[in-house]
Amino acid sequence: MLLNKARLLTPGPTPLPEQVRLALAKDAVHHRERNFSALLLKVEEQLKVLFGTQEPVLPLASSGTGAMTAAVDSLFSPGDKVIVINAGKFGERWSLIARARGLQVVELCYEWGLAANPEDIETCLEENRDARGLLVQLSETSTGVLHPVQDIAAKLKNSGVLLVVDGISGVGICPCPMDEWGIDCLLTGSQKGLMLPPGLAFIALSARAWKVAEKTRGSFYFNLPKERASLAKGQTNFTTPVNLIQGLDAAMDLILADGLDVLYRKQWALTMLCRRGIQAMGLVPFARRNYTWGLTSVLLPDAVSGASVQADCTQKWGVTISGGQDTLKGRIVRVAHMGWIDWADVTAALYALNRSLIDNGAFCGSHDFLEQGLASYRAALAGEPGVEPDIVHN
Ligand SMILES: *Cc1c(COP(=O)(O)O)cnc(C)c1O
Repeated sequence: MLLNKARLLTPGPTPLPEQVRLALAKDAVHHRERNFSALLLKVEEQLKVLFGTQEPVLPLASSGTGAMTAAVDSLFSPGDKVIVINAGKFGERWSLIARARGLQVVELCYEWGLAANPEDIETCLEENRDARGLLVQLSETSTGVLHPVQDIAAKLKNSGVLLVVDGISGVGICPCPMDEWGIDCLLTGSQKGLMLPPGLAFIALSARAWKVAEKTRGSFYFNLPKERASLAKGQTNFTTPVNLIQGLDAAMDLILADGLDVLYRKQWALTMLCRRGIQAMGLVPFARRNYTWGLTSVLLPDAVSGASVQADCTQKWGVTISGGQDTLKGRIVRVAHMGWIDWADVTAALYALNRSLIDNGAFCGSHDFLEQGLASYRAALAGEPGVEPDIVHN
């Protein structure tokens, strides 16, 4: 059927730009060839700019969760105590990975929809002076909340506790300069902000985290010190997905073309477009405050089935959005606007959501939700007051 384009407004995988698709279609090259090493070293320099670090950014052949596992296994040893910020599905994943490594896990839990409060973290650190690390998401994708990572980093500064940040739905979407903020480990996956297919993950460690990693007996596959040594020579320990690296080359050129500030401003403007749009329909975001930049979580009216709204969006309008996870199944939908997404994609999603809600029996407020959303989008792009990102503490 040629009626609709397939529009992927999900938190990974995300749509692919034409430049990336063409690069992915290139002939395979050998991963030990000199030209390939040169390519790897070129994208490496670009990744350092994106991560905001002087340290190497290692590509790993895995999904994002592989890099989360690599972080835990490389920085902590069985019996070590870590603090996990658990405010949703991905915070919970940190705990599962840490427990699988045999770590002692202290969870700082928040009601879903809320962000971590740095004051609580200070108290938790006082109560757990033997903690070796703190694991947190930059953006908790299951609820649509951004954790105040910069403020958390400030609390940890002189504590010797390693700050490990899952930036999978944040890197390339909102600012997270690793060295400036004092993050010890930042990681992401290829299929969200980086506009690539799934299959690659990226991880960087601070100088003090490297000292720990050098002494930790980690896993055979995710041997970060060995990866670092290989990368310095334009190599990877094992066969890297060469075509994805060629795609990465094209993606990084796009990401850095106009500078990171422009990229982030666009991302934030899309967030304003989506949030104001759903609010004009009379709906509320599930996140209470600290809205993440790459995704809007939308609380559905009680009588409406999330599954049929989602199905209608896909089948009638070609727009794929995500549902809720766990207890939020059927209660929220999540409209992602990360990566290769523009105002027209989000506008299509807003329209599809509105029509699907009406077709499923919901009352859906004003008819100028597109105009209200787009007015906020334009204002945010222009940097006008009243539409700034909101980082507040609970
Ligand atoms: C998507 C996501 C993950 C999982 O990544 P995979 O690539 O599916 O392993 C982990 N954390 C966050 C915050 C995510 O958004």
